[in-house]
Amino acid sequence: MSGLFIDGDWQDAAAGEIREIRCPSDGSLVATVPEAGPEDAERAVAAARRAFDSGPWRTTSSLERGALLHRVADLLERDKNEVARLESLDTGKRLVESLYDVDDIVGVFRYFAGLAGAESGRVVDTGRPNVVSRVVHEPVGVCSLITPWNYPLLQTSWKVAPALAAGNTFILKPSELTPSTAIWLMRALAEAGLPAGVANLILGAGAKVGPPLTAHPFVDLVSFTGGLITGRSIMASAAPTVKKIALELGGKNPNIVFADADRETALDFALTAVFLHSGQVCSAGARLLVEESIHDEFVDELVRRAELIRIGGPFDDLAETGPLISAAHREKVEAYVAAGLAEGAQLRTGGARPDDPALAGGYYYLPTILTGCTSAMNVVQDESFGPVLTVESFVDEEAAIAIANDSIYGLAGAVWTSQAGRAERVAGRLRMGTVWINDYHPYVPQAEWGGYKQSGFGRELGLAGLEEYRETKHIWHNIDPAPQRWFDGAEGS
Ligand code: NAD
Repeated sequence: MSGLFIDGDWQDAAAGEIREIRCPSDGSLVATVPEAGPEDAERAVAAARRAFDSGPWRTTSSLERGALLHRVADLLERDKNEVARLESLDTGKRLVESLYDVDDIVGVFRYFAGLAGAESGRVVDTGRPNVVSRVVHEPVGVCSLITPWNYPLLQTSWKVAPALAAGNTFILKPSELTPSTAIWLMRALAEAGLPAGVANLILGAGAKVGPPLTAHPFVDLVSFTGGLITGRSIMASAAPTVKKIALELGGKNPNIVFADADRETALDFALTAVFLHSGQVCSAGARLLVEESIHDEFVDELVRRAELIRIGGPFDDLAETGPLISAAHREKVEAYVAAGLAEGAQLRTGGARPDDPALAGGYYYLPTILTGCTSAMNVVQDESFGPVLTVESFVDEEAAIAIANDSIYGLAGAVWTSQAGRAERVAGRLRMGTVWINDYHPYVPQAEWGGYKQSGFGRELGLAGLEEYRETKHIWHNIDPAPQRWFDGAEGS
């Protein structure tokens, strides 16, 4: 057993600790991996620093960096079934979703492969014949890349691919619950020819290995995706050494349905928006806003359909959604629903574990719909990260915008209407990083992904995705230096 990858070597944790990885769908043992401590994280940081300062990657041509990322994409295509199986075992996610994720990840690596050499700087016209002035992009240095458990390899690809494209070295710290595809990635990067020390992998609890990864003076950049509370502490940890940081945090995303929307499509997407992957999606449409005139009939039909959703394990072909990630997370979701009911929300469906004995070994929770909610309630403001929909109503466009924006978060949202003008007006006024019109969930690597307000800081993907991982330098070269004689050297009188 070895799962820490430091300086091109597979290693166990210095303290000899291990962690068992169990499948959330039935608790079966998936893998046993080393559980790193701070000393392991420090070794990984030192290796990444050495590889950046004296290794070849920083100065490898952008063309070769792009070619390596293409080779990783090829390996993903070769190992697609195995990677998807690992992801499903760790997360409990349906295999069909994991297979889809792998296609997505291939696209991310190929996108950044193309971007690697796309723009290498520019010449600046100074108007002076004796000066060559240019702006160049350089890698930031050593990056700590910290990822969550809901889309483990996809979130990782959003960070690793641009970091490598720009010439950085890194330490990857996946969620302690879902390490398997990160281990696969380290093997793939080595097979693709990445020099030792450029990619390092630390497995373990964030509270233990987080401080060296986010505070160590050798680290230049921290890119984190995860919860708001963790994000705040990482920001504080990185502050004394003024690191570059990118934070992709939580969301409580409004899905706004006007009475003039295509009813059938809006209903269908309202279910997918919140119940896909059991709601464990940062951009989940967990906050439904329905225009008052259609509220009751829309919700009745939504409840009827939610009760038909089939729940099952990752390899159950009939399942439409799966378990929550852990027993602890299910308890959090249960407490969230209980608190919502205590503040006056009404339970329309769900609110319990399924009673099917075949599901008793997994961390399942029924699709849940709470009505009678308002934005003054914690259940609307807080992220549950589970299969729980809160429903509010609104009277007109102005009210819908005000209610939707009444949140500390600003990750994503959607508006459903058949009026093009209304769609654009509302989308323009929602304070969110992504707004879908008559759709929910799709993203493309060419567009930025990031949050307004407390949903984030910095951007992932898109051209900005590479910008996060580059420093920009202006080089002013006087090619004909000569004394200027501001001061003539004569003694003052
Ligand atoms: P989390 O914050 O608990 O953990 C995320 C990662 O941070 C894990 O690898 C964890 O080990 C690590 N970590 C924990 N404490 C740390 C510390 N003190 N220092 C350094 N690292 C630390 O989040 P989670 O439960 O894994 O993921 C769920 C959250 O992620 C949700 O809030 C969700 O909205 C958010 N998320 C956001 C996006 C996005 O793109 N905005 C995408 C996916 C998930």
